[in-house]
Amino acid sequence: MSKSNIIAIASPPASEFDADAVRHQRFKVYTAKQLDQIPQLQQLSAERRFEMQVVASVLPFRVNQYVIDELINWQQVPADPIFQLTFPQRGMLKPEHYDRVAEAMRNELPAAELKALISDIRGELNPHPAGQLEHNIPMLDGEVVEGLQHKYRETVLFFPSSGQVCHSYCTFCFRWAQFVGDKDLKIAARESNQLQDYLRAHPEVTDVLVTGGDPLVMKTRNLRAYLEPLLSEEFDHIRTIRIGSKALTFWPQRVVTDDDAEDLLALFREIQAAGKHLALMAHYNHWQELEPAIAREAIRRIRDTGAQIRAQGPLLAHINDDAKVWARLWQTQVELGIIPYYMFVERDTGARHYFEVPLVKAWQIYRDAMQQVSGIARTARGPSMSSHPGKVEIQGVTEINGEKVIALRMIQGRNPDWVQRPFFAKYNEDATWLNHLEPAFGEERFFFDD
Ligand SMILES: *Cc1c(COP(=O)(O)O)cnc(C)c1O
Ligand code: SF4
Repeated sequence: MSKSNIIAIASPPASEFDADAVRHQRFKVYTAKQLDQIPQLQQLSAERRFEMQVVASVLPFRVNQYVIDELINWQQVPADPIFQLTFPQRGMLKPEHYDRVAEAMRNELPAAELKALISDIRGELNPHPAGQLEHNIPMLDGEVVEGLQHKYRETVLFFPSSGQVCHSYCTFCFRWAQFVGDKDLKIAARESNQLQDYLRAHPEVTDVLVTGGDPLVMKTRNLRAYLEPLLSEEFDHIRTIRIGSKALTFWPQRVVTDDDAEDLLALFREIQAAGKHLALMAHYNHWQELEPAIAREAIRRIRDTGAQIRAQGPLLAHINDDAKVWARLWQTQVELGIIPYYMFVERDTGARHYFEVPLVKAWQIYRDAMQQVSGIARTARGPSMSSHPGKVEIQGVTEINGEKVIALRMIQGRNPDWVQRPFFAKYNEDATWLNHLEPAFGEERFFFDD
């Protein structure tokens, strides 16, 4: 590869960040009801704004002032990737769904009927992919433990009930099916006890992944109620605490200027001081998210605590289905001290038809992006499908004994013995998910199908 293919991005030095200029920025959020109050939307036609209302009535919509003012380049709208990431677009609903809701809204259908229609359509959008509701639900003493998921031996997922919203919503996300309102400290304490009981009974667990929604919408004192108990000796088997969050994109103020920002950073330090690894699993889709000075200041502050930031996010049409975008994203992350971790395939849910990228094309983008960066930035595994049997990585397209095949590898499996098993599927240019693939070489089934 010639040297000129390697992209270099100069990061502004941290000193360019002017804390006083943003000190007074308050968190202000718009939901579907307030779409019309967003000044920048006035540049769009009335027809387009109506389309957005229709789509926002079915799919999640919530966007805050920082995203609108600092992350979206309004000169590029509607093509702007962050606009596509946060604002509803007509194509996100299938034409028949769009037409039904649009007609109902034009005819001012009574609220109850409109609600029923919307609920029907949501039900058709596979709101709980990969069997999220029926599977992976842990039991303790014969009873279901709410708010936990335990699919892979080493790692327990924890969904604190007060962390089930986000500072903005991504248009491609269907976790809104679980989004609920804010809860008080009492509930946090109860959930925290359940988490501890479960972890006590499971010494094989080394990682706790706190997720949502976005756990960083919580006040620090709530988060502390969950995490501090895990620092005691009886939880020595918990070696890593991960926090899954998109706050570094949607509200970097969380660790810079929010009232309890310093306290959050102090909590991060405590976790490290207790000898555990703290990993912030940051969700990123585009390098534009890393441009604002405050976003970089937030990263710097978290890194200062000794916590590691790892980056993950899905590959999406209309947002980042371009090797150059990924190469620049990974390279910028490395320069800011973030480790690229996963590139995901968009899940089988919600507005999937709008965002999906065929597996073969996803791999080509991944490979092309990898070729544009050095080894230091080649740490993201992927493209990876979070499917029912496990995380399946597309290794590439190749030919074996004259048969064109897709090589795959299970990088995480519900059966630990499956981890790192390679396997092969018949070449299929259109497949967008594991269930579209068939075993190669005339085999009846994949090894995990038994
Ligand atoms: C991805 C994932 C994990 C973490 O897997 P790692 O390979 O350790 O990052 C844990 N639980 C679930 C359900 C996951 O999807
Ligand atoms: S930040 Fe994560 S959980 Fe929240 S809307 Fe985006 S993808 Fe979904």
